[in-house]
Amino acid sequence: MSASATSLSIDLHGLHLESACALLQIEPPAPDVADPAAYLQNILDSLCDLSLRDPLTGLSNRRHFNAVLASEVDRVARSGEEALLLMIDIDHFKSVNDTYGHSAGDEVLRVVAKTLQTCVRPMDTLARFGGEEFVVILPSCQPSFGHVVAERIRRAVENTMIAIAPGLDLKVTISIGGAFALQWIRSTSELWTERADQQLYLAKTTGRNRLCLEPPPESNVSAEEKNLLFGHLSAIEPAWVEMSSSATSDGATQR
Ligand code: GH3
Ligand code: MG
Ligand code: MG
Repeated sequence: MSASATSLSIDLHGLHLESACALLQIEPPAPDVADPAAYLQNILDSLCDLSLRDPLTGLSNRRHFNAVLASEVDRVARSGEEALLLMIDIDHFKSVNDTYGHSAGDEVLRVVAKTLQTCVRPMDTLARFGGEEFVVILPSCQPSFGHVVAERIRRAVENTMIAIAPGLDLKVTISIGGAFALQWIRSTSELWTERADQQLYLAKTTGRNRLCLEPPPESNVSAEEKNLLFGHLSAIEPAWVEMSSSATSDGATQR
């Protein structure tokens, strides 16, 4: 069916678009919309965008993060590329709420989100994980770059003045935990997140306002060699599968 034939068959006024328009803060369709299909497509796209965003900070939400992480797990397993997951948690955030009120806490979350945004590349996915926790997925990220970028993030937040009321500025710090994806290994979002979270816990328990990155796994075999060995398998499935750290000593096992 051609686009114009599709447009002709859509009766916008026979649809219940009131809730969608209210959510998107747009006017309901005028009686003479020139291209009803384009109008409807725009509403659908905008609703999709809304469903992937955190309303307070405007960052990607947990739903979007989950989808990107799952596809990154798949990509790393098949391509053997390096990728880093950072988990970021504001230190002693509860005391900001307790001392200055919940709306001051909300402003801190918005400003921290903006600060984080200035530190990441367009190809990275920065999301609000929940509460005062944020996550960043950094594809194509070598360990040395991972350290630099995570430390840049920590310092940027530490140095940001947050105006929460006229004449009242404050600063907060963050703790960061990070883990690299295991190259050529079939992992899961849960296992990767768990490893980054363990590092975040370490950063918290060793003093906060610090960065703990899991050392990248040692590999004696080059990516090229692995490609030669397992390339034909990786078109179907990667050669190795990551297991929970309680199942193996090094977190990975060979099939
Ligand atoms: P830690 O350094 O160990 O991370 O301590 P913390 O105080 O940051 O952590 P805790 O988990 O004790 O407190 C997190 C607080 O974040 C509690 C919760 O009320 C607050 N919070 C979660 N979501 C929001 C939000 O959207 N807005 C505001 N203002 N506060 C929030
Ligand atoms: Mg927390
Ligand atoms: Mg916290």
